[in-house]
Amino acid sequence: MIPFNTPPVTGDEMYYMQQALENGKLSGDGPFTKACQTWLEDSFHASKAFLTPSCTHALEMAAMLAGIEPGDEVIMPSYTFVSTANAFVLRGARIVFVDIRPDTMNIDETKIEEAVTEKTRVIVPVHYAGTACEMDTIMDISKRHNLQVIEDAAQGVMSTYKGQALGTIGDYGCFSFHDTKNYTSGEGGALLLNRSDKQEQAEIIREKGTDRSRFLRGQVDKYSWVEAGSSYLPAELNAAYLYAQLQHARAINNDRLASWETYAANLRPLEEDGLLELPKVPAACKHNAHMFYIKTAGIGERTALVEHLKQAGITSAFHYVPLHSSAAGQRFGRFHGTDRWTTGESERLLRLPMFYGLQQEQIKEITEQVRSFYK
Ligand SMILES: *Cc1c(COP(=O)(O)O)cnc(C)c1O
Repeated sequence: MIPFNTPPVTGDEMYYMQQALENGKLSGDGPFTKACQTWLEDSFHASKAFLTPSCTHALEMAAMLAGIEPGDEVIMPSYTFVSTANAFVLRGARIVFVDIRPDTMNIDETKIEEAVTEKTRVIVPVHYAGTACEMDTIMDISKRHNLQVIEDAAQGVMSTYKGQALGTIGDYGCFSFHDTKNYTSGEGGALLLNRSDKQEQAEIIREKGTDRSRFLRGQVDKYSWVEAGSSYLPAELNAAYLYAQLQHARAINNDRLASWETYAANLRPLEEDGLLELPKVPAACKHNAHMFYIKTAGIGERTALVEHLKQAGITSAFHYVPLHSSAAGQRFGRFHGTDRWTTGESERLLRLPMFYGLQQEQIKEITEQVRSFYK
């Protein structure tokens, strides 16, 4: 049996969690939370990083910091996870879905500008599979229309666009440390702030709407409720677990990239024969091998391939049902322009097993099975 995913384990997790226990502080913002945040800031040149209990929560914080109000419009791809949209729907926004590019499955940057209205406040590029959206164009549109950019970089930790880390290019960046992602704390996430004017407000929103952080720095002599907020701090045990993963970030990244390259090399002959398509990575992007997918001819062939792999003990997985076709998507949003690629390409895409520690022989077995299916 080859599973689709197994969460990464580096071997240092118990050591750091034991230290967290001995520190005698299990609630948020202890030494391990600080260490993870500093690691993220230093590694990615982010001006400020906050650990959160999930990427969903990081997106919610970003929506609050962006000042989203009922009736505002937010532009994003329909081919994404529900959290990308929910964060803004919870603040009363309307979601405006834009088509994707078939090569990267990312939002089609050439379709964004025509979707901008007087109500548009935010663009949300989602870096699918850890491959960057065309950020130069997106940032240019945002500047000309005075919009904010919130990167959903849930899958993009350790990826870059023109040398810049994903999550650090827009106004805000959101990472996920869910156990299906490259680095994990079970459930977890981070919000990166790439502007200096929002740090204090971010601290307040994250600390239940209080100025507790100012109090802890000795800037005020008692803390109180100053605006609407929530509790967006993970526990120290989770941060300790995550710290063990971040310490091995490069090794995990290299291991995944090696697996990705082996998949691509083994399946390229099938692509050359026109039987399937492999992921495309634009020259400006360095990805993190978050996933390896192939594209079949269509949904019927994909269903048959899933079954074929299952018979061989291999678990594969398709991905998002486009949000604009879901009940909530229809209620909370609209699709701008035509759905030329979103639905069709999503029905072709199939993800193959990808995790830290996937063995070369396992990849060989998987790609042999794919080859035997197409024979
Ligand atoms: C995983 C994921 C999320 C949600 O992350 P959580 O940490 O589980 O909240 C959001 N957006 C995208 C694109 C994701 O892949």
